[in-house]
Amino acid sequence: KDFSEISLKDIDRLANSSFPLCMRHLFDKLRENHHLKHGGRMQLGLFLKGVGLRLEDALLFWKSEFSQKVGPEKFDKEYAYSIRHNYGKEGKRTDYTPYSCQKIISSTPSVGDHHGCPYRHFSEENLRAALGKMGVGGRSVDDILDKVRNRHYQIACTLTFEAIHAASCDTGINHPNQYFDASQKILQN
Ligand code: SF4
Repeated sequence: KDFSEISLKDIDRLANSSFPLCMRHLFDKLRENHHLKHGGRMQLGLFLKGVGLRLEDALLFWKSEFSQKVGPEKFDKEYAYSIRHNYGKEGKRTDYTPYSCQKIISSTPSVGDHHGCPYRHFSEENLRAALGKMGVGGRSVDDILDKVRNRHYQIACTLTFEAIHAASCDTGINHPNQYFDASQKILQN
């Protein structure tokens, strides 16, 4: 199976099954608020590019949400450029790569931002609730929170992956797109 492209109609299913918590949070907030600030658009946008969402589909996806908030004209005028830019179609035409865990963990989201790493940036209460929503409970949650308290955020994410997939992830999680690929590999077998 070729993982290199995903189709827009599968995106909600894939978000539920195979997005790491950082991307699932951004995805849910985008669906809920029909808007994300710059940091969130970059973090989620480049991740979606990495999972194989083509530029045309990315434009449709972001437009369908942002139009509900700011209208289609404003989307075309103010937001479409940066999405094409992420795909290397504007400006210096650099082909931007998706952010690693390290980069996301060291980001500094402000109030109203939804980017960052939930293991690093959520309160314990919010993290508990988010893990519950992902179907992680019981002992696993205690183990995950224990890692978080010791600032082992990527190990906490790895434990979440293992709890959800009932499979081990020996390499550990170091990139959101690696999480996605490893998840798809398990789910499609
Ligand atoms: Fe995302 Fe990495 Fe944090 Fe997991 S450890 S939530 S993949 S940034």
